[in-house]
Amino acid sequence: MTDATAQKPLPPITRLTKPFWDGCREGELRIQFCNICDRPWFPPADNCPRCLMDDWEWRTVSGHGTVWSWIQMHQRYFPGWEPDEYPITIALIQLEEGPYIYSNLVNIPAEEIRCDLAVEVTFHKATDAVTLPFFQPRR
Ligand SMILES: [Zn+2]
Repeated sequence: MTDATAQKPLPPITRLTKPFWDGCREGELRIQFCNICDRPWFPPADNCPRCLMDDWEWRTVSGHGTVWSWIQMHQRYFPGWEPDEYPITIALIQLEEGPYIYSNLVNIPAEEIRCDLAVEVTFHKATDAVTLPFFQPRR
């Protein structure tokens, strides 16, 4: 198998998302929390979705969550993935702290995936700048 990682589409790192990606590179899942009402949210935004204030901070979260839904991609839409990487599982994970995150579900046979499956984050270095947070069954 060739390493096709560099050919895969990667997320852009912006002023707003940089702390998230810095955390991933350092092995921590970080999301924003409102300093006024304490609500956490994801994806990154400049204002709290509850109280709309712009007083917030990044905090490291547990990396634990549950599978809320998932799909499996069998069609090769992008050239960066090798045929033996399919099917690719894309899951909507509800983090223990509340927010949802889309990610890849890895290290689990397709027939064992179910809603409410307990999962944990696992980090995969894609490039020197980008480490992706994937999820796997919680140990
Ligand atoms: Zn708030």
